[in-house]
Amino acid sequence: MKISVLGSTGSIGTQTLEVVEHLGDVEVLALTAHSNIDLLEQQITRFKPRLAVVYEQTGALELKKRVDSGVEVLSGLDGLVAAAALASADMVVNALVGNVGLLPTVAAINARKNVALANKEVLACAGELIMPMAKATGVQILPIDSEHSAIFQCLAGNEGNEIERIYLTASGGPFRGYTPERLAHVTVADALNHPNWDMGRKITIDSATMMNKGLEVMEARWLFDVDPRCISVLVHPQSIIHSMVEFTDGQILAQLGAADMRLPIQHVLTHPRRMTSSFARLDFARHNTLTFEQPDYETFPCLRLAYDALAAGGLIPAILNAANETAVEMFLAEKIPFNQISVIIDRTISAYTGSGAVDINNIMQADSFARRTARDYAATM
Ligand code: NDP
Ligand code: MG
Repeated sequence: MKISVLGSTGSIGTQTLEVVEHLGDVEVLALTAHSNIDLLEQQITRFKPRLAVVYEQTGALELKKRVDSGVEVLSGLDGLVAAAALASADMVVNALVGNVGLLPTVAAINARKNVALANKEVLACAGELIMPMAKATGVQILPIDSEHSAIFQCLAGNEGNEIERIYLTASGGPFRGYTPERLAHVTVADALNHPNWDMGRKITIDSATMMNKGLEVMEARWLFDVDPRCISVLVHPQSIIHSMVEFTDGQILAQLGAADMRLPIQHVLTHPRRMTSSFARLDFARHNTLTFEQPDYETFPCLRLAYDALAAGGLIPAILNAANETAVEMFLAEKIPFNQISVIIDRTISAYTGSGAVDINNIMQADSFARRTARDYAATM
């Protein structure tokens, strides 16, 4: 199999390359980074792709000097789109973060490449557009996100059977059990300290606000074509059950495993086969307790905002996503306190009076509006 890896220098990207090394018979045709050219250069030496993309132009120029002339080096969104549509690739692993992954995903679908998708923001903003596009072209969207991989695995063999409920499990993040008062004083370092998963900075903050679970509700709604009212979030601090599906006969299937993203990554790369892996195994002697709690929607308003945005539909999910991306960036830059992230998102959604079909142009316009508006609100805080 031949793949392109978008976002190869990130948490999911590097773990994808570990799985590729483990599997041995996967060829890597394209690798992309935002600006980390040192790591990208090492990956190029190891995997010998045809194409490397550095989003930032100065980084692309520098990388060009460092690698041999057999590797084409491109930059910007055009570069990502070229990597996504590369002629001889069978699959595109989208491990980008944020809405920047939308156009590359569309390009991959139009070029008839199956998409292994970690980049959940794309489905949150544009699932309504992407899923029918994939269906029409016969492209598979294979989920890497652990919860969606779990649901995908529970649904295998149950084609045609109606889903009554999806239980999307959530670790609860580093601030589970906190009061709103306590949340007002948390620092960036506190928020980056996730109890169970080691991930990129943006998703780690999303896990702390629980917007990550909100985005995952949206992702599940489109991936599995279920009514959002049939998706329940269940806090499960041990992160052993990655999600569950209840069918109309009342039976529930769950998927369990160690908290190691290389497992769902390998699953999409070898699908529909399962291959041996040497990754982490679940030890029931050590993990002998599974507990479940209801989410605290008062302390973590982002989760409710995500359900509301999904119910409102149209371009509101794109507004929510872009406002969240902006607010998270500003929190990471220590420009706003943690508990203002949800306030900025809420205000940005309220300020939006636009409407229109869910198409690429309108999504991009909504995205720009939300980023501008969220930044303006933050400046007044
Ligand atoms: P990281 O921040 O670790 O990596 C992001 C990757 O995308 C890097 O290669 C980065 O390049 C590149 N990138 C970032 N911004 C841009 C941009 N504007 N243009 C082009 N390239 C860009 O993120 P993660 O790997 O943690 O997450 C990737 C996606 O997977 C997210 O949507 C996340 O929600 C999802 N996910 C992640 C999980 C995890 O365990 N990490 C689990 C489940 C889902 P550079 O290194 O140069 O900055
Ligand atoms: Mg997840």
